[in-house]
Amino acid sequence: MKNTKQLRSWLDDFGLDHPLVIAGPCSAETEEQVLKIAHQLKETDTTVLRAGIWKPRTRPGNFEGVGALGLKWLQKAKEETGLLITTEVANANHVDLALKHDVDILWVGARTTVSPFIVQEIADALKGTDKIVLIKNPVNPDLPLWLGAVERFYEAGVKNLGVIHRGFSTYEKTRYRNNPEWQIPIDLQNSFPDLPLLLDPSHIAGRRDIIFDLCQTALDLNYDGLMIETHHDPENAWSDAKQQITPKTLDQITIDLRIRKEEGDAVEFKNRLNTLRTQIDVIDNKIVEMMGKRMKIADNIGLLKKENNVAILQVKRWNEVLGRMILEGEQNGLSEEFVLRMYKAIHQESINHQKKVIDGSLD
Ligand code: PEP
Ligand code: MN
Repeated sequence: MKNTKQLRSWLDDFGLDHPLVIAGPCSAETEEQVLKIAHQLKETDTTVLRAGIWKPRTRPGNFEGVGALGLKWLQKAKEETGLLITTEVANANHVDLALKHDVDILWVGARTTVSPFIVQEIADALKGTDKIVLIKNPVNPDLPLWLGAVERFYEAGVKNLGVIHRGFSTYEKTRYRNNPEWQIPIDLQNSFPDLPLLLDPSHIAGRRDIIFDLCQTALDLNYDGLMIETHHDPENAWSDAKQQITPKTLDQITIDLRIRKEEGDAVEFKNRLNTLRTQIDVIDNKIVEMMGKRMKIADNIGLLKKENNVAILQVKRWNEVLGRMILEGEQNGLSEEFVLRMYKAIHQESINHQKKVIDGSLD
């Protein structure tokens, strides 16, 4: 990708003084539902109405979308409200139908981005279009695969591009439906600072209560916009009911979010500083999370030692760990003194955890 400045011209053309907001239901359900939500969103900062027409479900038997019929409802919503419209396309036939129904923005879903064959098919179907194409991250945490999809569109002459961060699937259950892995979009931003980057907090969260915090982190990291699933009656939505919010809640979220405008040198400096600090926060959260995991394993070792009547402190093992970490630290630009001090503290906490497990059993 060469002329990367051009990548964001579609976003600049919107002339917004706030991040781009794309909102609307996970799925178009009925004409009445689409129109109702569209009219409610018209009263908010929303520029683009979203709705899934063809729904990729992980398991069969869930609502798989109303199909092409829903495009007519979106078109009607656009006529009545002036909102732009967007839907997910997952093959060349979807593209054809979406173009026939004046869909302004097409998005490529997370389950599609994983497949270079399908991405290529969609890119070929869109050859040279001036439509905007937004590419969600693949379900697996693979930055080159995500960028590869962007490149396929770029090489097909699609120049109005952007990406949507919707989190990454993990086997392990966490507080998120899809782990944010903020480092991946941060790396992407560092390589392609002009490529518009949006957050989809709905699919990361999988629930309503952490959507605001996710949006704030994204804005602090200089994201360009948000795509948020919004429904007039979230509880009764036909898909993703737990994560949808009402247009009223969306409105409140956009009011409460701190938005940093880039103007002037001093502000520019503050923005940059804030972005870097948020990057540090992301890593600090990860460090503490990993420490927690490490100590849980130490608890298990404590149990095992207790069952086998083995002493907590195994000097040989500890020296091995320390030696390995000093070398590892050296390769990562960390001084021996720092690694020693850090590992002494970690080791002490580990011993405390094991003691607790063993003493607990003496009661
Ligand atoms: C969606 O936006 O409704 C959707 C299916 O998203 P994703 O591709 O991120 O799972
Ligand atoms: Mn959804």
